[in-house]
Amino acid sequence: MSRIRLLPEILASQVAAGEVVERPASVVKELVENSIDAGARKIEVNIRRGGISLVRVVDDGCGMDRDDALLSLERHATSKIRTSADLAAIATLGFRGEALPSIASVSRFRLTTREPTAVSGTEIIVAGGRIETVRDGGEAPGTQIEVRSIFYNLPARRKFLRAENTESRNIEHQVHLQAIGHPEIAFALVRDDRIALQLPAAANLLERIRDLHGPELVERLLPIEEPSAAAKIRIHGLIGQAGVSRQTRAQQLVFVNGRAIESPVLTAALREGYHTALMKGQFPVTFLFLDLDPAAVDVNVHPAKREVRFRDPAGVREAVVEAIRKTLESGRRDWQQQFQKPVPIPSVASPLAPQPQFVEPALNYVIPSRAEGDGLHKSPDAWPTESAIDVAKSSHQFQIIGILNKLYVLMENENGLVLVDQHAAHERILFEELRRRMEEQGVPSQRLLLAQTFELAPRDAEWVERNAATLQKMGIGIEAFGQNAFKIDSLPTFLNVSDPVEFMRKVIDGLKSASNGSSALRLGEDMIAKTVCRHAVKANDPLRYLEVEKLISDLLQCDLPYCCPHGRPTMIQISHGELEKKFGRKV
Ligand code: ADP
Ligand code: MG
Repeated sequence: MSRIRLLPEILASQVAAGEVVERPASVVKELVENSIDAGARKIEVNIRRGGISLVRVVDDGCGMDRDDALLSLERHATSKIRTSADLAAIATLGFRGEALPSIASVSRFRLTTREPTAVSGTEIIVAGGRIETVRDGGEAPGTQIEVRSIFYNLPARRKFLRAENTESRNIEHQVHLQAIGHPEIAFALVRDDRIALQLPAAANLLERIRDLHGPELVERLLPIEEPSAAAKIRIHGLIGQAGVSRQTRAQQLVFVNGRAIESPVLTAALREGYHTALMKGQFPVTFLFLDLDPAAVDVNVHPAKREVRFRDPAGVREAVVEAIRKTLESGRRDWQQQFQKPVPIPSVASPLAPQPQFVEPALNYVIPSRAEGDGLHKSPDAWPTESAIDVAKSSHQFQIIGILNKLYVLMENENGLVLVDQHAAHERILFEELRRRMEEQGVPSQRLLLAQTFELAPRDAEWVERNAATLQKMGIGIEAFGQNAFKIDSLPTFLNVSDPVEFMRKVIDGLKSASNGSSALRLGEDMIAKTVCRHAVKANDPLRYLEVEKLISDLLQCDLPYCCPHGRPTMIQISHGELEKKFGRKV
């Protein structure tokens, strides 16, 4: 007796629907993508009760004639690809020909559509996959699709829907993604009869982000633009400055050929590109676009088309890391410029010039200098008198007012007040200095009085062998000493380690997990970032005036002056405007 049967068509599409239509937000995604593919200039999304009771998408795109409208509801019916060669180089958002039949099979569905030149349009009503009505319809040119009572005929799936609010938020996120991906299209989102979002067509991405997230965010973004000939990829968009981060990935957006995607390759690349400019556990803000030959990416990986496979993932990764790094470093010029304009107001600092309460004899501020000797500032200078401050002022464009709580350097610049965390600043300076040395000649190392041998687990041993050259550059003298055994005979001079073996185990543990698969250079950076912290100026180490001045000017020379190697900010600007607001001089 034969057991195998062909699934009835409707059942088959319900199975497919499980893959494409997970929740109301997936309906919105599929319908909006269809509208974009149809060349719409304006898309309106209307939802009720989190999209569970209604999703309606109206566009002014090319519309369909009656035959196409009927065909669009058949499985695997698409106008977007014809041959398997097309599948290998997809230029549209859709291509599977599954969305409309899948959605129509799990809802009460109504489609009205009209081509711009046609006299009348078509209306089709479907319930649970069965076509009930086909007739002339007289809507405006374009397409309107209504999806009511999603999963009304599949109670098992309906149970998996979340609270209406959660579903609404998913939909909103989906509309945000599409709006960022297509600034030239006007979008509106109406939620339970209230306008939740109204975005006019924007001239460019920046304008769209400003409309969506406000001017404050835009001010903290840097344009990224990097044609990489090697990887045949163009990278563009806007990314957050160093120090701008979020607790979730909600604003870490990446588009590949106009399609919002989630990609472990790109997530790792972003993390590596930001590296020390990102606090641990935080996520960057990116509106990043990658344009590459459609044949170099496979989007036919996931039914919901959220994932892609790159033909050359390593090349893509390297290009993204480089582009981000360059962009973040270029961002420092803005900061420097703010310090290059002379302070306009007559000094308020002089009368209140830092007085002896800041002066303490300790000297812990040691920065390995770039050129001269060991760079120790042992001059017994105290906080200067007024005239000395004036001299300092004339040679620098920033003006130090004093130190708060033995930790924050207060400064004045053209825009207002600047607070610098002296500890974070020192970490950043040390970090960049050591990184520079490591790249150039390797970190100076010091021989241990007694070389020590130790054993490692086979995996750790393998890791050390693979990274021996980098460890050497970082000033760690380590070599194999038999099976899984190693000898360590030197450590970086700037370290003060009592138990080298214990230290090595920690380094290996920390670096192994942090730098999985990243470059040797990044490994060294991690190592430095992890060790530097303990050796930077402690929060309440009192500094002398000249030391503070040198600290600040060294900081401004850094590649990424505004955050420490762990991504925490080094300086905070409080503008004149903000002060005026606080004092009620301005609303
Ligand atoms: P796909 O987008 O993968 O081709 P769909 O099931 O989403 O598959 O849509 C099937 C076809 O219906 C599309 O290829 C397109 O020709 C047509 N279509 C769908 N939505 C629209 C729309 N909003 N405007 C014009 N044509 C549309
Ligand atoms: Mg589609």
